[in-house]
Amino acid sequence: MSGSPGVAVAFRTLGCKVNRVESESIAAELLGWGVSIAEESEADVVVINTCTVTAEADAKARKAVRHVLRLPHEPLVVVTGCLAAVDADAVRALGARVVVETDKTLVAARVADHLALAEPASPLVRAGSAAFRTRVSVKIQDGCDNFCTYCIVPYARGVPRGEPLAAVVAEVDSLVAAGVSEVVLTGINLGRYRDPASGADLADLIRAVATTGVTRLRLSSIEPPDLTPHLLAALAETPAACHHLHVPLQSGCDEVLSAMGRAYTTSRYREIVLASREALPGLTLTTDVIAGFPTETAAHHAETLAFADEIGFSKLHVFRYSVRPGTPAAELVQIEPSVRAERAAHLRELGEQQRAAFLEAHVGTQTEVLVETVDADSVTGTTRDYVRVTLVGTQLARGDVTRAEVVGVCDGLLLAR
Ligand code: SF4
Repeated sequence: MSGSPGVAVAFRTLGCKVNRVESESIAAELLGWGVSIAEESEADVVVINTCTVTAEADAKARKAVRHVLRLPHEPLVVVTGCLAAVDADAVRALGARVVVETDKTLVAARVADHLALAEPASPLVRAGSAAFRTRVSVKIQDGCDNFCTYCIVPYARGVPRGEPLAAVVAEVDSLVAAGVSEVVLTGINLGRYRDPASGADLADLIRAVATTGVTRLRLSSIEPPDLTPHLLAALAETPAACHHLHVPLQSGCDEVLSAMGRAYTTSRYREIVLASREALPGLTLTTDVIAGFPTETAAHHAETLAFADEIGFSKLHVFRYSVRPGTPAAELVQIEPSVRAERAAHLRELGEQQRAAFLEAHVGTQTEVLVETVDADSVTGTTRDYVRVTLVGTQLARGDVTRAEVVGVCDGLLLAR
């Protein structure tokens, strides 16, 4: 590794999992330049990876930039991510020490340039830096062209594009060699994945990644219409693939789904869930739901509650609708914030009931646990259906995969032995 003693970079990552993965990649690249990762108070450069999914996300990003600009040692502030892409000028206007880099693949080089660093020595740093973890997200895709009417992402991240299949397989290979047991394939819209050279799709990629021998393979999220028989077949024939899918619902009412620009109805969603459950025995489903979309009436909201109840999710991620300027839904008549909050609370209550029932159903069963942390007092890990487990009375090491009997539930965690 090229030595650049004392040069340090800090990260602030806002928003989604894709941003986190991208920040990790930038950090790994910078480690290759000999830079260390530090707290903001000691960093020469602070990289802020922003989100613009809601007006609140914008405000948070601007606040983060202002906060770093006020640090007494005056680090350089490099701003990237979706807010930088959508409104670079507004971000630049926040201060003279702000550098905007809209292309995330250039952030590390931009920082290295500023710090006058020598060429990087080791391209294998990402695998090396991942070695202490058991689960790593690998970004395989960016962009979306669904243009859901509430969402700014297609404007911020542009059209879908996939990472080369061979590069993804090589990355997973090196992660497996470094001791990583679980890989989460991550992207903005995974169903849109295509290998740029061959046009190979997500099903082909899953089959190719499975050849690396990775113990567990998970998809971060998949849009309902993309759960085709073709994709389900690839998941079903891949022993590493976890039978856990995050399938955004957003609303359980057809009128609202149509106003949101979502490409399915509730009956289609139901059919997709039935087909998925048949293809992947024991399938666990998690989802996202938006409360208080502009056209949503009290009756529509009641339909969403009933539909979510019928499908039976293991986790409901509930979002209060938030106006995103520049999107079609921002032009509609808005629902009172207090009503949005009330509906979100109803959905969260249902989500908590479903979660409790889901966890209780594990008691008395045998489950596979991937051990993730081991300390003097406890051993914790994750099941294939993505539940945290505390193991008692066992002698295990991080990265071990074991079968354990679930004996109880405590504070949202399973207890097993
Ligand atoms: Fe946004 Fe819809 Fe694309 Fe998801 S599918 S990123 S909600 S436009």
